[in-house]
Amino acid sequence: MTTHAGRDIIDLAEPPDEDPLVDVARQLLKEIGEDPDRDGLRDTPQRFARWWREFVDYHPGTVETLFESTTTSQLVIVSDIRVWSLCEHHLLPFNAAVTIAYRPTGHLLGLSKFARVAHRHAHKLQVQERLVADIAHDITTITGTPDVAVIARGEHLCMTMRGIKASALMTSTAYHGAFATDSALRGELLSLARP
Ligand SMILES: [Zn+2]
Repeated sequence: MTTHAGRDIIDLAEPPDEDPLVDVARQLLKEIGEDPDRDGLRDTPQRFARWWREFVDYHPGTVETLFESTTTSQLVIVSDIRVWSLCEHHLLPFNAAVTIAYRPTGHLLGLSKFARVAHRHAHKLQVQERLVADIAHDITTITGTPDVAVIARGEHLCMTMRGIKASALMTSTAYHGAFATDSALRGELLSLARP
Protein backbone atom coordinates (compact mmCIF):
# COMPACT_ATOMS: atom_id res chain seq x y z
CA MET A 1 0.00 0.00 0.00
CA THR A 2 1.29 3.48 -0.79
CA THR A 3 0.13 6.84 0.48
CA HIS A 4 -0.76 9.40 -2.13
CA ALA A 5 -2.04 12.89 -1.34
CA GLY A 6 -3.04 11.78 2.13
CA ARG A 7 -5.08 8.79 0.91
CA ASP A 8 -4.22 5.12 0.94
CA ILE A 9 -4.02 3.58 -2.50
CA ILE A 10 -3.95 -0.17 -2.93
CA ASP A 11 -1.14 -1.31 -5.19
CA LEU A 12 -2.91 -3.49 -7.78
CA ALA A 13 0.29 -5.28 -8.72
CA GLU A 14 0.26 -6.95 -5.33
CA PRO A 15 -2.98 -8.76 -4.54
CA PRO A 16 -3.65 -8.47 -0.80
CA ASP A 17 -4.77 -12.09 -0.27
CA GLU A 18 -2.68 -14.27 -2.49
CA ASP A 19 -3.79 -17.87 -2.86
CA PRO A 20 -1.39 -20.15 -0.89
CA LEU A 21 -1.30 -22.37 -3.98
CA VAL A 22 0.76 -19.66 -5.70
CA ASP A 23 3.52 -20.28 -3.15
CA VAL A 24 3.17 -24.02 -3.63
CA ALA A 25 3.73 -23.60 -7.37
CA ARG A 26 6.74 -21.32 -6.88
CA GLN A 27 8.24 -23.89 -4.51
CA LEU A 28 7.54 -26.71 -6.97
CA LEU A 29 9.26 -24.79 -9.79
CA LYS A 30 12.31 -24.16 -7.61
CA GLU A 31 12.49 -27.82 -6.56
CA ILE A 32 12.62 -28.97 -10.18
CA GLY A 33 15.46 -26.57 -10.92
CA GLU A 34 13.48 -23.74 -12.53
CA ASP A 35 13.52 -20.04 -11.83
CA PRO A 36 9.92 -18.99 -11.11
CA ASP A 37 10.84 -15.40 -11.95
CA ARG A 38 12.08 -16.08 -15.46
CA ASP A 39 10.05 -14.70 -18.36
CA GLY A 40 7.95 -17.70 -19.36
CA LEU A 41 7.17 -18.71 -15.78
CA ARG A 42 6.33 -15.39 -14.16
CA ASP A 43 2.54 -15.89 -14.29
CA THR A 44 2.61 -19.67 -14.07
CA PRO A 45 2.11 -19.90 -10.28
CA GLN A 46 -1.08 -17.77 -10.54
CA ARG A 47 -2.35 -19.91 -13.42
CA PHE A 48 -1.54 -23.06 -11.46
CA ALA A 49 -3.51 -21.76 -8.46
CA ARG A 50 -6.48 -20.72 -10.63
CA TRP A 51 -6.55 -24.07 -12.39
CA TRP A 52 -6.57 -26.06 -9.14
CA ARG A 53 -9.35 -23.88 -7.66
CA GLU A 54 -11.37 -24.27 -10.85
CA PHE A 55 -10.87 -28.05 -10.80
CA VAL A 56 -11.94 -28.65 -7.19
CA ASP A 57 -14.62 -25.92 -7.02
CA TYR A 58 -16.63 -27.41 -9.87
CA HIS A 59 -20.38 -26.97 -9.48
CA PRO A 60 -22.45 -29.26 -11.69
CA GLY A 61 -25.70 -27.25 -11.37
CA THR A 62 -28.98 -29.06 -10.89
CA VAL A 63 -28.64 -32.80 -11.24
CA GLU A 64 -32.03 -33.91 -9.99
CA THR A 65 -34.46 -32.97 -12.75
CA LEU A 66 -36.85 -35.91 -12.98
CA PHE A 67 -39.72 -36.56 -15.37
CA GLU A 68 -42.66 -38.82 -14.63
CA SER A 69 -42.77 -41.94 -16.75
CA THR A 70 -45.37 -44.65 -17.11
CA THR A 71 -43.04 -47.10 -18.80
CA THR A 72 -41.28 -49.74 -16.75
CA SER A 73 -38.50 -52.22 -17.48
CA GLN A 74 -37.24 -50.00 -20.30
CA LEU A 75 -33.47 -49.90 -20.63
CA VAL A 76 -31.97 -46.40 -20.88
CA ILE A 77 -28.30 -46.03 -21.85
CA VAL A 78 -26.31 -42.81 -22.06
CA SER A 79 -22.92 -43.58 -23.51
CA ASP A 80 -19.61 -41.92 -24.25
CA ILE A 81 -19.75 -39.15 -21.65
CA ARG A 82 -16.16 -37.81 -21.73
CA VAL A 83 -14.70 -36.68 -18.43
CA TRP A 84 -11.25 -35.64 -17.19
CA SER A 85 -10.13 -36.41 -13.69
CA LEU A 86 -6.93 -36.61 -11.65
CA CYS A 87 -5.45 -39.86 -10.42
CA GLU A 88 -5.03 -39.58 -6.66
CA HIS A 89 -1.86 -41.69 -6.65
CA HIS A 90 0.16 -39.50 -9.01
CA LEU A 91 -1.84 -36.27 -9.44
CA LEU A 92 -1.76 -36.94 -13.17
CA PRO A 93 -4.82 -36.65 -15.41
CA PHE A 94 -6.88 -39.48 -16.73
CA ASN A 95 -9.72 -39.24 -19.19
CA ALA A 96 -12.59 -41.65 -19.33
CA ALA A 97 -15.53 -42.44 -21.57
CA VAL A 98 -18.42 -43.16 -19.22
CA THR A 99 -21.55 -45.16 -19.99
CA ILE A 100 -24.49 -44.97 -17.60
CA ALA A 101 -27.48 -47.31 -17.85
CA TYR A 102 -30.60 -47.70 -15.73
CA ARG A 103 -34.09 -49.13 -15.78
CA PRO A 104 -36.45 -46.34 -14.69
CA THR A 105 -39.18 -47.07 -12.21
CA GLY A 106 -41.63 -44.22 -12.71
CA HIS A 107 -39.01 -41.48 -12.99
CA LEU A 108 -36.80 -40.51 -15.90
CA LEU A 109 -33.70 -38.44 -15.34
CA GLY A 110 -33.06 -35.52 -17.75
CA LEU A 111 -30.43 -36.40 -20.32
CA SER A 112 -27.91 -33.67 -19.43
CA LYS A 113 -27.97 -34.74 -15.78
CA PHE A 114 -25.98 -37.89 -16.48
CA ALA A 115 -23.04 -35.82 -17.72
CA ARG A 116 -23.34 -33.47 -14.75
CA VAL A 117 -23.22 -36.39 -12.31
CA ALA A 118 -20.20 -37.84 -14.13
CA HIS A 119 -18.36 -34.50 -14.14
CA ARG A 120 -19.17 -33.87 -10.48
CA HIS A 121 -17.31 -37.02 -9.46
CA ALA A 122 -14.49 -36.50 -11.96
CA HIS A 123 -13.66 -33.06 -10.53
CA LYS A 124 -11.74 -34.35 -7.56
CA LEU A 125 -8.81 -36.65 -6.89
CA GLN A 126 -10.05 -40.04 -7.98
CA VAL A 127 -9.32 -43.59 -8.96
CA GLN A 128 -11.37 -44.96 -11.82
CA GLU A 129 -12.99 -47.70 -9.72
CA ARG A 130 -14.36 -45.16 -7.25
CA LEU A 131 -15.45 -42.86 -10.08
CA VAL A 132 -17.83 -45.52 -11.44
CA ALA A 133 -19.01 -46.45 -7.92
CA ASP A 134 -19.73 -42.79 -7.05
CA ILE A 135 -21.66 -42.21 -10.29
CA ALA A 136 -23.68 -45.42 -9.81
CA HIS A 137 -24.50 -44.42 -6.24
CA ASP A 138 -25.80 -40.98 -7.34
CA ILE A 139 -27.88 -42.35 -10.22
CA THR A 140 -29.43 -44.93 -7.87
CA THR A 141 -30.21 -42.29 -5.24
CA ILE A 142 -31.59 -39.69 -7.68
CA THR A 143 -33.73 -41.99 -9.84
CA GLY A 144 -34.84 -44.33 -7.06
CA THR A 145 -34.21 -47.42 -9.17
CA PRO A 146 -31.89 -50.18 -7.95
CA ASP A 147 -31.07 -51.22 -11.53
CA VAL A 148 -28.06 -49.09 -12.44
CA ALA A 149 -24.87 -49.86 -14.36
CA VAL A 150 -21.85 -47.67 -14.97
CA ILE A 151 -18.92 -48.51 -17.22
CA ALA A 152 -15.83 -46.33 -17.63
CA ARG A 153 -13.02 -46.80 -20.10
CA GLY A 154 -10.08 -44.62 -19.18
CA GLU A 155 -6.63 -43.65 -20.35
CA HIS A 156 -4.30 -42.74 -17.50
CA LEU A 157 -1.33 -40.45 -17.97
CA CYS A 158 0.31 -42.08 -14.93
CA MET A 159 0.54 -45.15 -17.13
CA THR A 160 1.26 -43.63 -20.52
CA MET A 161 3.64 -40.86 -19.37
CA ARG A 162 5.55 -42.56 -16.57
CA GLY A 163 6.37 -46.08 -15.35
CA ILE A 164 6.01 -48.54 -18.21
CA LYS A 165 4.88 -45.74 -20.60
CA ALA A 166 2.46 -48.09 -22.29
CA SER A 167 -0.69 -46.88 -23.94
CA ALA A 168 -3.62 -48.88 -22.61
CA LEU A 169 -7.25 -48.46 -21.75
CA MET A 170 -8.61 -49.52 -18.39
CA THR A 171 -12.23 -50.56 -18.00
CA SER A 172 -14.12 -50.44 -14.70
CA THR A 173 -17.71 -51.45 -14.11
CA ALA A 174 -20.35 -51.10 -11.42
CA TYR A 175 -23.45 -53.30 -11.80
CA HIS A 176 -26.32 -52.89 -9.37
CA GLY A 177 -29.75 -54.47 -9.02
CA ALA A 178 -30.83 -56.45 -12.08
CA PHE A 179 -27.55 -55.63 -13.83
CA ALA A 180 -25.73 -57.64 -11.17
CA THR A 181 -28.03 -60.65 -11.30
CA ASP A 182 -29.38 -60.81 -14.86
CA SER A 183 -26.66 -61.75 -17.34
CA ALA A 184 -29.03 -61.34 -20.31
CA LEU A 185 -29.67 -57.71 -19.32
CA ARG A 186 -25.93 -57.16 -18.94
CA GLY A 187 -25.37 -58.69 -22.37
CA GLU A 188 -27.99 -56.39 -23.88
CA LEU A 189 -26.30 -53.39 -22.28
CA LEU A 190 -22.87 -54.37 -23.52
CA SER A 191 -24.06 -54.95 -27.09
CA LEU A 192 -25.96 -51.65 -27.21
CA ALA A 193 -23.29 -49.54 -25.50
CA ARG A 194 -20.46 -50.76 -27.72
CA PRO A 195 -18.96 -47.76 -29.54
ZN1 LIG B 1 -1.95 -42.96 -11.19
